[in-house]
Amino acid sequence: MAGKTLKGRTALVTGATQGIGEAIAQALAAAGADVVVHGIEPQAGGEAAAAALAGVHGVRAAYVRADLADPAQAAAVVARAAQALAAPDILVNNAGIQHTCPIESFPPERWDAIIAINLSAAFHTMRAAVPAMRERGWGRIVNIASVHGLVASVNKTAYLAAKHGLVGMSKGVALETATDGITVNCICPGWTETPILGPQIAARAAQFGGDREAAIRDLLKEKQPNLKLLPPSRIGEVAAFLCSDAAEGITGVSLPVDGGWTAQ
Ligand code: NAD
Repeated sequence: MAGKTLKGRTALVTGATQGIGEAIAQALAAAGADVVVHGIEPQAGGEAAAAALAGVHGVRAAYVRADLADPAQAAAVVARAAQALAAPDILVNNAGIQHTCPIESFPPERWDAIIAINLSAAFHTMRAAVPAMRERGWGRIVNIASVHGLVASVNKTAYLAAKHGLVGMSKGVALETATDGITVNCICPGWTETPILGPQIAARAAQFGGDREAAIRDLLKEKQPNLKLLPPSRIGEVAAFLCSDAAEGITGVSLPVDGGWTAQ
């Protein structure tokens, strides 16, 4: 996006040390926002990532480490971001994990972790962030759901439950905050080139004699009509748009960025 349209705003982005979260942090900082980078990496590495972001974009940045599988840590992350920089005007719930397995052998502890990180953490952070946004009369919440918040694929029960839940929860919070200058939306990415795809690409590659490129082509052919893994920056740019004043009329929406996946 052109211009420093988010100058003076503070963003908290969860899971922002790699992948889509990092791209969102970059896009928001490029638009002028100060950014609290959240992650699970050790403090020194996270602080280095935040310092690099600040250096490149001329914004303020800080690092907050928290395990979002733990409800107490998830509930505290907004207050810690406020201590580090300022109460977030922008909250991006991006952190997420995946596990693929048929229902009858799906490990219950993987179910619990996926629901905790991909769904409950967003409840805790929104619950903590909304009051200051309301007071200020301005807020932007962007939840990174998935095409799997809208449609299903096999072997993803926990991820589907979490992402469909995130889509529903976001609509509810959008309605509760609609007169407060706050918008709440989901982005629903299709296949995007990040580390989360590693195990799924490896499993598919095993069917192609270990050929990674053939595996990616096959995954895309099955679901994603543009036949291209999305660069994470494309999700970052859409997130920055949803945080702009131009998007003030967009709330309660779950926007597919999926190369046509959910058009089928
Ligand atoms: P990724 O694995 O690169 O990033 C996931 C992030 O979540 C990492 O920063 C990681 O540190 C963080 N995280 C994991 N466990 C955590 C925990 N216990 N506490 C706190 N943070 C934790 O993958 P990504 O593709 O960048 O994923 C980002 C989001 O995008 C996820 O919610 C994912 O479900 C969603 N998504 C990804 C794709 C895709 O194709 N890559 C498609 C649709 C949706």
